[in-house]
Amino acid sequence: ATTANSDSARDRAALIHPMTDLQRHDREGPLLVTRGEGVHVYDDDGNAYIEGVSGLWSVSLGFGQTRLADAAYRQMRELPSYHLFRHKSHPPAIRLAERLLAIAPVPMSKVFFANSGSEANDTAVKLAWYYNNALGRPGKKKIIGRIGGYHGITVASGSITGLARNHADFDLPLPNFLHTDCPSHWKYGLPGESEAAYAVRLAANLEALILREGPETIAAFFAEPVIGSGGVIVPPAGYFDLIQPILRKYDILFIADEVICGFGRLGAMFGGSLYGLAPDMITVAKGLSSGYLPISALMMSEAIWEACYAQSGKLGVFGHGFTYSGHPVAAAVALETLDLYKELDVLGNVARLAPLLQQGIRSHAEHPLVGEARGVGFLGGWELVADKTAKTPFAEPGRVGLMVERHCQARGVILRALGDILSTAPPLIATAPDIERIVEVVGEALDATLDDLARGVRI
Ligand code: PMP
Repeated sequence: ATTANSDSARDRAALIHPMTDLQRHDREGPLLVTRGEGVHVYDDDGNAYIEGVSGLWSVSLGFGQTRLADAAYRQMRELPSYHLFRHKSHPPAIRLAERLLAIAPVPMSKVFFANSGSEANDTAVKLAWYYNNALGRPGKKKIIGRIGGYHGITVASGSITGLARNHADFDLPLPNFLHTDCPSHWKYGLPGESEAAYAVRLAANLEALILREGPETIAAFFAEPVIGSGGVIVPPAGYFDLIQPILRKYDILFIADEVICGFGRLGAMFGGSLYGLAPDMITVAKGLSSGYLPISALMMSEAIWEACYAQSGKLGVFGHGFTYSGHPVAAAVALETLDLYKELDVLGNVARLAPLLQQGIRSHAEHPLVGEARGVGFLGGWELVADKTAKTPFAEPGRVGLMVERHCQARGVILRALGDILSTAPPLIATAPDIERIVEVVGEALDATLDDLARGVRI
């Protein structure tokens, strides 16, 4: 009976809430995920899958954390919903802001809440603009992102994103959103060019872009410590040490997007700490609540706060905020999440098992389909290529990535192909056997895909 009901649910889902893969969704219907426990999710037939990307880099503590459910339930009964407009507040928002400021990797002064990573980054764009208006430089407004970077999907954050698939046919990016080089040394390094030399070249290119546009027109630069959903791109050695002085030289704000890298994903509380980042603003989401409820936050420096505070006096209001900014139930869950990160020694688990994952990832480096195997901490991936030596991409972008993803899923491991980059980001509570299983299944899926390609199997 369950199956019959679920089948019709699957059919209905295919028809009424299409997302991203519109045609495939319509033809095949979704994998109907009905339950989760630990690192596993279960489909409507009771099949278990290791969630090898933590949902979408979000469910860091895995599924079935009753403490998070209990925190939500308690807060639901106490104060289920309230806003922060017109100088209102509530204890969960205050406590969460205090906690974030206490763990911030560099001194931060204030917190704005939002509901998603996109909204937090939109807020950062608006703050950068507002800040420059406050300082009497209304022309300093351009935003620089990076090719390959992902910062969200709304009109502004989608414009910072540097991915063709999120721009094409959506008329993005907006004017005044620029993109500098993708930091992939493997892909864009010149023959014989060291990582260090590549970093020097990228920094020079950034400075040239700033000078071409005019530093007086550029407000902010956005970067993730390690690019996540844009393709797991680890910066070349020395990159941020060269980039940050250039930003300071031209008085350009640095906004660190820690939406994926934050809360232990790379092995430190904030990924930026591993690369010496000293940002003016930091955005977080996803792992903030272990994905259990939507909540995001932006932390800002004292300098930004001071300028915005003064400016807001002129209008009498800072005209930005969301109905659910700092939603009490989401904030309560986030507070409990931060407690659990500590109590479960999640950072310790990542430190202990990241070598196993990273060695496992690299154990497939010699596979004929793998151009580069890479990652940091509990984040990693395999860039798939048509020709390993020439690093030639596939003629039909994304198809082979999807083939490998499907072979993984058929073997009980959910991974995510970002175009032709197969990515993994296990829940931070994953055990050695979970990680070994992910690595093993990827090996089988790569072999199965190679076989399919040799036989001309199409999907
Ligand atoms: N920034 C980064 C680095 C992300 O990975 C994402 C989501 N994948 C976002 C921002 C946007 O977050 P959301 O989907 O919650 O809007």
